[in-house]
Amino acid sequence: VTGGSRGLGEEMAEGLAEAGASLMICARREQWLTPTLESFRARGFRIEGMVCDVSAPDQVQTVVDKTIAAYGKVDILINNAGISWAAEPEAMPLDKWQKVVDTNLTGAFLFSQAAGREMLKRESGCIINIASIAGMTGSVSTSHWAAYSASKAGIIGFTKSVALELGSRNIRCNAVAPGFIATEMTGALSEEVLKQWQDAIPLKRAGTPQDVANLVLFLASDLSSYISGQVIQVDGGLLT
Ligand code: NAP
Repeated sequence: VTGGSRGLGEEMAEGLAEAGASLMICARREQWLTPTLESFRARGFRIEGMVCDVSAPDQVQTVVDKTIAAYGKVDILINNAGISWAAEPEAMPLDKWQKVVDTNLTGAFLFSQAAGREMLKRESGCIINIASIAGMTGSVSTSHWAAYSASKAGIIGFTKSVALELGSRNIRCNAVAPGFIATEMTGALSEEVLKQWQDAIPLKRAGTPQDVANLVLFLASDLSSYISGQVIQVDGGLLT
C-alpha cells in the first residue's frame, strides 16, 4: 500500500491486515510511517515499511525488491499515495504541477510496472488505483485543483488501459474514486468549504476512511474476481 502511513492508506492497510494479508507500506516521512508500523506490529500484523517517494524509480524498485525478499510475491498493489496543490491554473507554478502529476500519476505507473513484472511472473495479481471523483468532473465544489483533477483523470485512463492489456495474464486493475473523505488531506479546508461539501452530499456526511477501505478490501479479494477495468465511486451519492 503506497501512502500507507496515514489517512485512507492506513485504513486500507489495516483492513487488508485484518483479512490476513502480509503487508508492505511506504511513504516519504518516517514521522507517520514509524508509529503506524509500531501500532500494526503491536496488534500482531505482519508488516514491513519503507521510506520511499513513489515518483523516484529506484526507490520504487527497492520497495518491490524488499517485498519479494520478505514475502516471495506481490498479490495486491494499492496505488494510494497522493498529494494536491491549490492554485488557479494561470498561477500554478510548473514545479508544483509536475510534483502533483509525478506523485499521483507517474508514481502509480512506476509501482504498477515494478510490481506488475512480479505479478506477470506468476500470472496473478490485482492492482487498485485510488483516483478521485475530481478526475471525473474536474474540481468538485472547491476550485483551483487543475493539476490534481488532471492527475486523477490520468489514473482512470491508466487503470482501464492496464486492465485491458494485462487481463489476459490474469491481472485485474480497478480504480476507486472517493468523494469527500475526512482525512489529513481534507483537514486543511475551511469550515465554509466543509459545510458546502456536506450540504451537497446526498447522504449528508463526509465519507470515512473505512468507507473507502471496505471497497478496496472487496476489490482486493476473490469476491470481485470478475471485476476489472472499473472506476467505482465512494462518494455518498455526490456524483450521480
Ligand atoms: P493523506 O492523509 O495526505 O495521506 C497521503 C499519504 O500518501 C501519506 O501516507 C503520505 O505520506 C503519502 N505520500 C504523499 N506523497 C508521497 C510520495 N511522493 N511518495 C510516497 N508517499 C507519499 O491523504 P488521503 O486523504 O489519505 O489520500 C489518500 C489518497 O486518496 C490520495 O491519492 C488522494 O488523492 C485520494 N483521495 C482522497 C480524498 C479525500 O477526501 N481524502 C478524496 C479523493 C481521493 P508522506 O507525506 O509521508 O509521504
